[in-house]
Amino acid sequence: MAARAEGQVRFLSFLYSNCLDNRVFSWYDLNHTMSVQCTHKIRLQPNNQQANHLRQACGVARFAYNWGLGEWQRQYEAGEKPSPYALKKQFNSIKREQFDFVTKCAAEQAFTDLGKAFGNFFRNVKAGRPPGYPRFKRRGIRDSFYVDNIQLKLKNKRVRIPKLGWVKMAEPLRLQGKITSAVISCTAGRWFCSIQVEIDIPDVKAVGPTVGVDVGIKRLAVTSDGRVFQNPRALRTAEKRTRLLQKAVSRKPKGSRNRAKAIQRLQRHHYHIACIRADAIHKATTAITKGVGRIVLEDLNIAGMMRNRRLAKALQDASLSELHRQITYKAEQLGIEIIWADRFYPSSKTCSGCGSVKAVLTLGERQYRCEACGLKIDRDLNAALNLKQLAAGSAVTACCLGSSGVSMVRHETTDWAGISHEKISVRRKEQGTIVWVAMGT
Ligand SMILES: [Zn+2]
Repeated sequence: MAARAEGQVRFLSFLYSNCLDNRVFSWYDLNHTMSVQCTHKIRLQPNNQQANHLRQACGVARFAYNWGLGEWQRQYEAGEKPSPYALKKQFNSIKREQFDFVTKCAAEQAFTDLGKAFGNFFRNVKAGRPPGYPRFKRRGIRDSFYVDNIQLKLKNKRVRIPKLGWVKMAEPLRLQGKITSAVISCTAGRWFCSIQVEIDIPDVKAVGPTVGVDVGIKRLAVTSDGRVFQNPRALRTAEKRTRLLQKAVSRKPKGSRNRAKAIQRLQRHHYHIACIRADAIHKATTAITKGVGRIVLEDLNIAGMMRNRRLAKALQDASLSELHRQITYKAEQLGIEIIWADRFYPSSKTCSGCGSVKAVLTLGERQYRCEACGLKIDRDLNAALNLKQLAAGSAVTACCLGSSGVSMVRHETTDWAGISHEKISVRRKEQGTIVWVAMGT
């Protein structure tokens, strides 16, 4: 038994050697693993012939989707009840042979996607949100097709795509686990393979200090232990070149070869900006989640903030929601608990030294000066420290929950008849799915 446990520890340490060094393993913990879906997007290096095939496969996926959407609308108007499954059968019976030169997944997944798109639409209608009726796909905009795990094979830096053969990849797959599917896509003339892998992670709690994280526009993130992650502000810096390239496109006559070339140059430029941003966010979130036990984040109303026209551009440049998403999923994999501060919690206006709250604090004030105790501190660091202290207040509730499957605690303040209530929900695994369970109100 001991030897077996040791073997597993070694195996797991090998898997997580670079990211899980802060976790304590025991035989008990190893029995409690949970699986999560991870995606690794790898650049493909197809030759011209292969790239042609990939384009055709995307074309088939797009055609099937558009055909399905058209048929759905026709059937709906005729008073029938369309379904993605029936449409797929209908499509296969009349069009299958025509598209046999590419993988059958390309066309079949299109109907699953169509079903999902209508599912979202109906759900939104029911909830009274803007519905977003499914739209026809256009060539050159988010071109992609799907390959299932039965047809997919990997070998070092190569991937075998059905009906095409082995295609070179820029790097081998870094995740170890069961491959569930892949999506081949094209962005700015470059091909990618997003491989979805189911990986097992031990369901244990991370041990380490609590860190408050203030995310912002001026700086990507500031942590309560004083680390500052600068925002590369890629969009702002590249604005001049964006304008130049946009102008070049609009000067060329529509449908001309030169216009197509100019469009590709502009797309590459946008892709370059996205890469700079993604790189900075990944580095910051990896650093933030390393060696900590608990992270306190502010639950920002980003959609609401985007409606502010003066803030929208800077917000887009900083991509705060992506930062939150990455911290959340990286924390989940490492067993770090996340505590969400209420969106109305005055993290910036409160003094981290004495706790007095300022009535007004303009965005321009980069330094926090407390009138009550005379504290002078960096504005973002002050906010991060306040968030950290908030976690100390909720320590009782978080500890009572124990470590059995609970990875996150979310605090929400709800207004009921003018009295604000704190609603605490915890993230728990029930029958393999993650649910938010509200604690006593
Ligand atoms: Zn003070």
